[in-house]
Amino acid sequence: MPLPSPHPLRFGLVAHRRHRQADSGLARWIAACEPAIRALGLGLHAVGGTYDALAGSGRLAGYAPLVRYPFGYEGGLMRLVSHVAGAADPKDALDGVIYLTDPVDPSSIYPEALALKRQCVTHGKPFVSTAAGAIEWIAVELAHAGLGGVGVDGAERLFALQTQTVALIAHDALKDRMVDFAATHFELLSRFAGRVATGTTGSRLNDMAWARGWPKDQNWVRPYLSGPLGGDAQIAELVLDHRCHKVIFFEDPHVARQHEADIQLLERAVCSAGVETTCFNSPMMAHRWAQALGLRPA
Ligand code: PGA
Repeated sequence: MPLPSPHPLRFGLVAHRRHRQADSGLARWIAACEPAIRALGLGLHAVGGTYDALAGSGRLAGYAPLVRYPFGYEGGLMRLVSHVAGAADPKDALDGVIYLTDPVDPSSIYPEALALKRQCVTHGKPFVSTAAGAIEWIAVELAHAGLGGVGVDGAERLFALQTQTVALIAHDALKDRMVDFAATHFELLSRFAGRVATGTTGSRLNDMAWARGWPKDQNWVRPYLSGPLGGDAQIAELVLDHRCHKVIFFEDPHVARQHEADIQLLERAVCSAGVETTCFNSPMMAHRWAQALGLRPA
């Protein structure tokens, strides 16, 4: 059964300057997804420059659920953070964010940008940082809405798990939830051509797989170093080489993380490689994605 969706969904929308150019992330996303966005009636609350780029492209002309927020320097991004958290006035609350991130745009590390992702993770709302992820996420929402017949150009390639490698990583407080997620979606995750993990997460996942009958002489996931010892950076290198295409990373937003730099490095590598790479930062996002795939033919 699809998860119930509040209807219509409303997402914040931000694209860094590089992704607003012709043929870059925003243009590719909207070209692939415009019919689906209209079918979903998806609200798009776009920060000033992003809204202006969309309006200038002629896409979504006359689409009432496209709403303009102030420019970033006027507080547009800060408002999005509040709206993800539930908003000062609940009528302004948002269900998720698409933030097409250029990791070398300095604003990608402004406090409001970091807070935006953190509040999405905290409230179990999707935070989508790449064009590939944004295309895939629209297809996910279509599946949940029972609108799987509406086309999204490029989605089939993104759902071709047998050609991809997935990374599975969880911070300590979320390792049990990662094991539950992987057990619940074991067949789906086993369809990937490869699975990798950071050290401690990987050993928990292999134990789970062996307990389910996976051959004892084979790893279900290939474990790299533990995250704090460099495992996140090793997986980032795979991502940059296009040898890892999905990163499912259950982040703990409630603790100080001594290897914060490594975590950011991995997520920023996903944005560098973003033509075909996506990151899922929370159990909610990962389950919603996996359930949507379960609604599609294998
Ligand atoms: P771990 O690393 O699986 O080795 O605990 C996770 C992380 O990156 O923090």
